[in-house]
Amino acid sequence: MSATTEIRAFVEAHQPCGELIGNGSPATAEGYQLFLRCACGLEFERWVPMAEATADIAALASEN
Ligand SMILES: [Zn+2]
Repeated sequence: MSATTEIRAFVEAHQPCGELIGNGSPATAEGYQLFLRCACGLEFERWVPMAEATADIAALASEN
């Protein structure tokens, strides 16, 4: 499973919980680290390779 698929699955699974807080490490040529924290307390962390760093994933990382 790609990082993007896993991130989307997490976001979908936790949409009913409430607010997801996203954060990302500064992007490098290889990619960046994405952190998500759900209202239910669950945390999710994935390396996003540049090849998968799409606009909707970037939007998650810069939500706060
Ligand atoms: Zn949740």
